[in-house]
Amino acid sequence: MPAECLFCKIVRRGIPAQIVDETDELLAFRDINPQAPVHLLLIPKRHIATLNELKPADAALASRLLLAVPELARREGLAERGYRVVMNCNAEAGQTVFHVHLHLLGGRALGWPPG
Ligand code: 5GP
Ligand code: ZN
Repeated sequence: MPAECLFCKIVRRGIPAQIVDETDELLAFRDINPQAPVHLLLIPKRHIATLNELKPADAALASRLLLAVPELARREGLAERGYRVVMNCNAEAGQTVFHVHLHLLGGRALGWPPG
């Protein structure tokens, strides 16, 4: 777990975040610069830099990450009205924090295609 990784620091409570859910493997917290009325980040606690580093051995973790989404969406009042899940990988997609994270966005009409 790199000491300098921002999201690893949030996992260790080294920097504050508005945490909304936690399991032994996952952490969900509010994005500091929300792009929609609801903007959550859902991360594996274990440091994985990008989606490219995800391995077959991470199948259960990846599955739990995705399966956590509907309950978070329900709790945020988004399940029926709609929401978007985004995972940016590397520079051209706009990844700025190199610890795998899923964005859960909703609470307004979202344009398509994304920019
Ligand atoms: P990316 O661009 O890598 O897909 O997304 C990184 C996200 O992390 C951005 O939406 C950004 O606003 C968010 N972020 C960056 N620093 C912090 C922080 O210190 N706390 C929280 N809660 N979110 C952060
Ligand atoms: Zn990390």
